[in-house]
Amino acid sequence: MADIKPYDRAVALGETPVACDNTLYRRPTPGDRRPIQGRHTEFAGDQKFRFLCHEKLECFNRCCRDINIFLSPYDVLRLSRKLGLSTEAFLERYTVRLQPGAARFPVLIIKMRDDADLVCPFVTGRGCSVYDERPWSCRMAPVEIRGENRYGFAFDSDHCHGLLEDREWTVAEWMKSQGNENYAQLELGFDQIPQKLKFTGLPALDRHIRDMFFMACYNLDRFRRYVFEGGFFMRAFEVPRSTAEKIRHDDIALLQFGINWLINDFELRKSMEIRDEVFGR
Ligand code: SF4
Ligand code: SF4
Repeated sequence: MADIKPYDRAVALGETPVACDNTLYRRPTPGDRRPIQGRHTEFAGDQKFRFLCHEKLECFNRCCRDINIFLSPYDVLRLSRKLGLSTEAFLERYTVRLQPGAARFPVLIIKMRDDADLVCPFVTGRGCSVYDERPWSCRMAPVEIRGENRYGFAFDSDHCHGLLEDREWTVAEWMKSQGNENYAQLELGFDQIPQKLKFTGLPALDRHIRDMFFMACYNLDRFRRYVFEGGFFMRAFEVPRSTAEKIRHDDIALLQFGINWLINDFELRKSMEIRDEVFGR
């Protein structure tokens, strides 16, 4: 039990702690034998967990610093529109593009501020300034997905005091309360891209494939130019007029179109020719 903190150890032994590292901890009521929750906890989707986040907690905002907040395509769209920025400007100003390996697709995280605390650029003393459009992973926190119907917590209770609160949820109830239910439908097919869009093993071609993936999934304003400027894309991929009219102004429709294009209609040669015609590379 060497790595278990005094407070957790006392509770695990069925004692009511009389002293602990952080006296602001909420103490369990006498006789409360429920296990302390933390990173070690795992549960299925229909099992209850306890959590409540609110600004009276001593840890309020603590989780919004020095952390990797991954962004999904829909997150980028929502945040850029919330901030009144093009997707290009948003990506440039607020994100870091991580390249996990030569034959992998890039992933995006929020660029933390370059200060001692590495705080999220959107955090304020009163909480998240983009709360209505906050990313999927911020909505899920502290719950993390660990596999098929397997969930756990990203934090321990000494860091995240909301895990010491009494409010109970199933994962479905939690996601509904956080407005996370729509993502799967709006990003339908996104998780199939690695199976459908294959790398060639040739660095220049694979760089182009990664760029196309990144543009169609994350940089929708650039993708819209790619699709519409000069009519090259429309001709090459025979896009129906009704589809073209819809995606011209509808961001969600364009996002879904882009994912569908990547997994069903992408052709390397054509996509390179269009890129050269539109962006002059
Ligand atoms: S986006 Fe909002 S909730 Fe997410 S880390 Fe930043 S401030 Fe916190
Ligand atoms: S550490 Fe946990 S309880 Fe505290 S603000 Fe973050 S999510 Fe909420």
